[in-house]
Formats: sequence, C-alpha cells, structure tokens
Amino acid sequence: MNYPEFPSPAERAAVIDLAAIRHNVRHLSHIVSPARVMAVVKADAYGHGAVQTARAALEAGAAWLGVAHISEALELRAAGITAPVLAWLHTHQTKFDEAIRENIDVGVSGWDLDAVVAAARELEIPARVHLKIDTGLGRNGCPEELWEAFVGRALAYQEEGLLRVVGIFSHFAVADEPHRPETDQQLEKFRIAVAVAEDAGVDREVRHIANTPGALSRPDAHFDLVRIGLGMYGLSPFAGQTPAELGLRPAMTLKTTISACKEVPAGQGVSYGLHYRTQEPTTLALVPLGYADGVPRVATGGPVQVDGQVYPVVGRIAMDQMVIDLGRTGIAGTEDSLVGREAVLFGGEGLPGVDEWASAAGSINYEIITRISERVSRTYIDSAAGTAEASGTGPIALEAVPEAPSGEVPSGVAPSGDVPGGTAEANGAEAVRAQ
Ligand SMILES: *Cc1c(COP(=O)(O)O)cnc(C)c1O
Repeated sequence: MNYPEFPSPAERAAVIDLAAIRHNVRHLSHIVSPARVMAVVKADAYGHGAVQTARAALEAGAAWLGVAHISEALELRAAGITAPVLAWLHTHQTKFDEAIRENIDVGVSGWDLDAVVAAARELEIPARVHLKIDTGLGRNGCPEELWEAFVGRALAYQEEGLLRVVGIFSHFAVADEPHRPETDQQLEKFRIAVAVAEDAGVDREVRHIANTPGALSRPDAHFDLVRIGLGMYGLSPFAGQTPAELGLRPAMTLKTTISACKEVPAGQGVSYGLHYRTQEPTTLALVPLGYADGVPRVATGGPVQVDGQVYPVVGRIAMDQMVIDLGRTGIAGTEDSLVGREAVLFGGEGLPGVDEWASAAGSINYEIITRISERVSRTYIDSAAGTAEASGTGPIALEAVPEAPSGEVPSGVAPSGDVPGGTAEANGAEAVRAQ
C-alpha cells in the first residue's frame, strides 16, 4: 500500500523499527525450530507496511509469507518478492487466475476449490493449494464430516494435473488463553485430519495450525510451519504477559508533537460533550492525533508520554486531536513550553505500550496497531544500524531508537490470567488511569 504525500510526514508518524521485526522473527524461529516461520503480513502487516515488513522477515529467516487476500499477495509479488506466499480468504470476486500466474498458494476449504481449479484449467497451470480443516473455530475450514470427501476431490484434481496439494492447515480459536481445553481438542482433530489426508494419498509439504499464541504456548502445535503475525510486531498475545517477558520488541512507535498548550482555570470543559472539567487551574496540551488517525474514539484515558512524563488523555478523543491535562501528574504549572515537544502514544521499552491503549479502548493490541490510518506516515528505521532506512512519504530526520537489550527469555507457557488494566473507561468519564 502506498501512503499518500503529506506536507510534513514528521508531524505524525508511525515509526517502524525493522531491526525489531528481524529480532522478533529470529527469536520466534528459534523457539519453533525445526518448524519454520510464515510471516503473516495481512492488513498491510498489521499497519507496519507489508512490503517492508515482508522483506525484513525474510532477511531474518522467515520461510513463507501469509496474507488473507490474494490481492495482498499480489502486492508482494508486484514489489518483487518471490518467497512462497499463502492467501486464505476469498470471495467469488477473487482473482484466482492471477494468484496461479503469480505462483501464490491458495488456502481452500469448500467452494473455492472448484473456483481455483477452474482458473487452473483455463491457464493450464496447476494451482498450489493448502486444504483447510475447521477444527473448531467455526469460520472457513472444511467441516470434519466433509473432510474425507473434500480431500478426495482435491486428489482427483491433482491426478488431472490441475493442482498440487502443498499443505494442510487449520486455525486456533483460543490459543491466547492457554488454560482452555479447546486447543487440545483442535489439535487432536487436526492430527486426525492430517492422517486421513495422508492415508488417502496426500503428499503434503507442510502442516500448519499455530498462530503467535499457539507457537508460544504449544510446542506440540508447531508441525512444519507456524503462522506468526502479532509476535513479529513485538506484541504479546497473552493477557498479563508483556512483550519483554516473551523476548519480543514492539516494532511500532506512534508519535507526534504537541501543537498547543495553554493555562486554564478550574472548571474548564475539555473537548466535545464537555465531559471532562478541570478541577483546578492547570495547563492543557493538544495532541494532534484523533480517530481519523486510527486512535479509537473511546480510548479516553490512554497514555501520552511527553518529556518522560505520562499523561492520560482527558475528554473525548476527536477526529483529529485529543487533550492531555498536564496538572494530572502533580506537576501543575508546566506552562506553554511543551509546544513542539514530541508526544508518544506507544512504543517499545520505556514508552507506554500498545496494550495500555488497547485496555483504554476495550480492545486488543492487534486492533490498535492495525487501525493506525494512512493519514499517519510510516517511517522506517533500523535501530541495529542506527540509521533511518527509508520513509513512507519522503525525507524525515529521525533519531534512531537505541537497541533494546535482547534478553532472550525462554518461551515458556503463558500463565492464564485476567485481562490487564481492567475495563475500558466510559468515554468522557472523569476517571484518570493510574500511571
Ligand atoms: C491473522 C492470522 C494469523 C496470525 O495470527 P497472530 O495471532 O497475529 O500470530 C495466522 N493464521 C491465520 C489464518 C490468520 O488469519
């Protein structure tokens, strides 16, 4: 995806540290070895930039790439990426012919098998397919009862030279909650499905079922390939376990600069609805990011770090902007000098985390990073090299983020636990999050 030109990309940036992505891929590869890593770069690599992320992941040893849509796979090919790519979510409008022509693997679980075969017949090129079994998630895998017949159909097409069955796969429903029994049940069903297919004569290259939480918590789920999204971006899939505890480094830092700062009396209402009122004379600072930039409107209370201090957002988050009350840290009197200072919503070590924004929004870290909109420029740095590598929208001066200590933490099994940070605050409530 291309990010459009904006007057000054430095005004608001999602800074992506490619060294963090490489570190995470290496770390996860080590954990799952001898299984290989499929780097999942759907949804523009969860907002990190699909092509840049894919390249970094491949450099660090990822063997495959994974996306939801064939159109996303085609973007990777258009950028010159030749690694194996799997796409698994299709509609009747999907361009299976282009996928076959571009050597893109296609996940199939029902009607899509015939659609892929029709395209292969037309092109006279065999399709590369991965057969998907629904082991419990209830989305698009082949139901267990139909599996044997489905495998039989695929093998008949293979005999005709219309496809090659490259893989057998499934997807976990609750691997982020390692104490739940359903993952065992899904694994058992998957093993049976693989055995049924192999008995029928399928000579697959790869079996895969684990996502990031599955890869981290279930060594018995690694098979030949693990499909890693969240972990590659340096975030934790487990409630109550931080990225650092998993040996991961968050790759995205979301920042802007304070655009206004002013002293106000007690009783000043803040933002639409005036749901927040200052309790005493204080200083308000304006952070020029809002829901059009992908910061959830409901995330009042989310943290913004300025000058080493963390301030909660007060009042409603608007389309373009949000407000922090500098008095809320007990250092009232901080005056207009913060204008122009860097304001960081989330990032890696020493900065507020994506997880804090997720709990402020009543959501999950996946959604926070994925929704950062195209209005925010993506900028790429390589903290290992200490240089700015590339920018999504043109020249930008950036200090390199210092390399975090790469403490290799044993993968371990995540403990079960409640969602950290409690519930989302009601929008506009006066409550201020603990800092
Ligand atoms: C998104 C997705 C993944 C990656 O999941 P993470 O939890 O981000 O690692 C893996 N497999 C499938 C089928 C997906 O849709």
